[in-house]
Amino acid sequence: MREGLAYNDVLLVPQYSDIESRKEVSLNSKLGFIDCDLPIIASPMDTVSEVAMAKAMDAKGAIAIIHRYNDVEDQARMVAEASDGNSLVGAAVGTSGDFLERAYACYEAGADVICVDVAHGHHSLMKQALKLLRQMVSDDVHIMAGNVATFEGYEDLASWGADSVRCNIGGGSICSTRIQTGHGVPGLQTIFDCSRSHFAGTVPIIADGGIRNSGDIVKALAAGADFVMLGSLLAGTTEAPGDVLVGRDGSKQKAYRGMASKDAQMSWRGKTASLEGIATTIPYKGTVVDILDDLERGIRSGLSYSGARTITELQSKARFIRQTASGQTESGTHILR
Ligand code: IMP
Repeated sequence: MREGLAYNDVLLVPQYSDIESRKEVSLNSKLGFIDCDLPIIASPMDTVSEVAMAKAMDAKGAIAIIHRYNDVEDQARMVAEASDGNSLVGAAVGTSGDFLERAYACYEAGADVICVDVAHGHHSLMKQALKLLRQMVSDDVHIMAGNVATFEGYEDLASWGADSVRCNIGGGSICSTRIQTGHGVPGLQTIFDCSRSHFAGTVPIIADGGIRNSGDIVKALAAGADFVMLGSLLAGTTEAPGDVLVGRDGSKQKAYRGMASKDAQMSWRGKTASLEGIATTIPYKGTVVDILDDLERGIRSGLSYSGARTITELQSKARFIRQTASGQTESGTHILR
């Protein structure tokens, strides 16, 4: 049996650098024909991505995928509002039910990306959905698909017509898939595995779920991801959907929930099937612009520690080292009190 590495299990070894300013570092990454200044995608979740988040992401040269837990008309209206003629925006659809109608409505509303968003993407229904979608929309619409946890899953989705693939199953902060089903692969290992494919470099790898800070983002990019997809890091902000809840002690919170949680399923379809997520509240963080600025600073700094001016250079130079349990303790802040 082989071992799977999680973000915490490794560090990047610092390397000789001649980068004098973080401004020399470019975080540019391409989602097919779409050029992004910041390799971050906001998750298609109803506590993360609606119009305000999409506009804020676009303003930073990043992108949000408007979630699909709504009526087709609502989703298309949000896409149209976010797109506003020329801003970047995606939409998520499933692989059954109204997915073609939904995809077409979002496409007509100006979506640049259609994201086929299912929990287990390495599936016959995905193959069929990709074929139908590819026939329905023109080539200038980027089709993202997922999620997968393996090299084979990534290769199959790429050969079935996906333009990019969301990689990682069971690693999300609100996800209980591994607890409920015993299935998954540690998130960073999935990126290492998928990046060995000959499709890597042509079909962007999106490291999705379980990313807790800019250090994890740098590790994901160095391991071979072209983009990261974030839920919890962007949730709890002003631009995330939902009201700010004020606790008795005056603390401010916002809801964050997995789309397969009981809470989310009850609100979008009035019943529950398999429960593979949890609902929670997280501290209110203010505007997402500040969060994105912080992440960007951390990622730029990360590239400069590896002596890399671009993500591609980071991927070729990166040297990972495994850390022991004591190393993991040392890597966190650990002042004795
Ligand atoms: P986070 O950034 O660690 O919070 O993870 C966000 C990711 O979790 C999303 O982009 C999805 O891939 C995944 N996700 C969202 N809802 C659920 C769920 O209910 N169960 C399992 N995974 C989920």
